[in-house]
Amino acid sequence: MKIKLDRTLCDGFGLCADHAPETFSLDEWGYVSLVGTGDVAPEDEEGVRRALLDCPVHAILTLPQTTATRSATAETTPAMAGDRRQHG
Ligand code: SF4
Repeated sequence: MKIKLDRTLCDGFGLCADHAPETFSLDEWGYVSLVGTGDVAPEDEEGVRRALLDCPVHAILTLPQTTATRSATAETTPAMAGDRRQHG
């Protein structure tokens, strides 16, 4: 799971840090920052999902995983595409 925080939306309610303190840290005014890059460890996902649902201003967004695997069978190389020899 990967998330992004839109700090321009954050109103400093602090709910996210209550649910997932390993992912969100509060500054002295109660506004949050992401701890790390936004990659959420599997064991932290439940708390982050609760934070995501409870954030009153929807400042926490999920992002598609960047490590998605691509299917080798879905790719066609130019050599394969041009290999249309006639037999006979
Ligand atoms: S729950 Fe939302 S509004 Fe509250 S501190 Fe976290 S990101 Fe900001």
